[in-house]
Amino acid sequence: MAVLINFKICDNAKECGGIGVCPTNALSWDEENKTIKIDNEKCISCGACERECPIGAIIVTKTEEEYKRKEEEIKNDPRTIKDLFVDRYGSVIISDFFKIEEKDINDKIKNNNLTLIEIYNPDEAECLLKSIPIKDLTKGLPKDTMFYKIESNHLLEKYKINELPALLVFKKEKYLGHIEGYYTIDKIDEVIIKLNKIINN
Ligand code: SF4
Repeated sequence: MAVLINFKICDNAKECGGIGVCPTNALSWDEENKTIKIDNEKCISCGACERECPIGAIIVTKTEEEYKRKEEEIKNDPRTIKDLFVDRYGSVIISDFFKIEEKDINDKIKNNNLTLIEIYNPDEAECLLKSIPIKDLTKGLPKDTMFYKIESNHLLEKYKINELPALLVFKKEKYLGHIEGYYTIDKIDEVIIKLNKIINN
């Protein structure tokens, strides 16, 4: 019965929701060392802390073998806390740079070779670190490709969208198609294939 924290992506704060929900005090705040303290003698592997963590930094394991595997995964995890501050598809907006309003769309797609506009719903924003970074999503596309985010439910009917987030693709003002639904980072190849199909059709 044990819990691990991936401190590579955890902001290690006193306000950690995992500490708040832990029924046995296995997770607590160490004021002296300013860090979340784990006491695995007290952990009952109930999973409450794992469910509470919005970025998936808390991992609850049930066996020693699983604990060791997860410990190794954390050791090899290339992500850092900085990854939390990268704008992502299907997630809450971090930089206002990407944000536009519905009235701006025609202006933004004008004169552009390729423009991607993501319609997102902040109420259903998914975990930041599990979403696909915009820079990775657009890596193989022409350098002048523009990416914007828009919060608008009015567009769903117009573009026949059933599920958010949705990524609208425009080429020289013409709407080419869209991808809809949430994708985690492990599905990035799938999304890129879909995107290229829409662009090259
Ligand atoms: S799994 Fe349950 S008991 Fe263990 S640290 Fe998390 S909340 Fe506490």
